[in-house]
Amino acid sequence: MLPRCGSQLGLRFMLEANSTLSKPLVLVVEDEAALATMLRYNLEKQGFRVEEAADGQEALTRIAEVQPDLVLLDWMLPVMSGIEVCRQIRRRTNTRDLPVIMVTARSEDQDAVRGLNTGADDYITKPFSMDALLARMRALLRRSNTVPTKVRLQFHDITMDLASHRVSRNGRPIHLGPTEFRLLEFFMQHPRRVFSREELLDAVWGPDIHVEPRTVDVHIRRLRKSINGEGELDVVRTVRAAGYALDTEPV
Ligand code: CA
Repeated sequence: MLPRCGSQLGLRFMLEANSTLSKPLVLVVEDEAALATMLRYNLEKQGFRVEEAADGQEALTRIAEVQPDLVLLDWMLPVMSGIEVCRQIRRRTNTRDLPVIMVTARSEDQDAVRGLNTGADDYITKPFSMDALLARMRALLRRSNTVPTKVRLQFHDITMDLASHRVSRNGRPIHLGPTEFRLLEFFMQHPRRVFSREELLDAVWGPDIHVEPRTVDVHIRRLRKSINGEGELDVVRTVRAAGYALDTEPV
């Protein structure tokens, strides 16, 4: 459970601190027009910018277009359910860390727990108070602000641009398949750390995907083949009985 934060002062302070950059952008995904309007009114009053989507498919489109800082995601939505939207958000490299709060009706409480399992950061049950919602939003935004999403990753002579999805080594462009891209991204976010095949499966393929741990070896091989040019150092280290790491040190 999140700590409850009664004071509005903290939130104002945070929003003011942020306003030099820009106000946090919230995507409200809600098919009940009256509730969406109420949320927009109250969130804008609290210093947020608000975008809206009325169904699951539109939500994914809007997320790609406006790149919100946080998504308020209704559970029951037309076209595509909130839970499926959440899965898609977590599956995509550039939205994997996007904070998501699932909004459920009381009768859907059991489902909400399932929602958290599929990757929502938190959930709130209708009807809710704005104070309760703001407390959750604040906690999530603070967490994501302290660890800002890096757009550009660098390791040794490898550069990864997450915005343009480009990878290069020594200035030479490298073309990676989607899985190898996510694998390398994960390694570059945790350089020199050794991960087991199971950990890599969980982080890169997702906990719901069931594939053999040996699949990791196949993609590691492809990754090596793509990033290691003639005479270049192999930066993927195999650690016997433990797993793999992105490292420049020899075994
Ligand atoms: Ca709904």
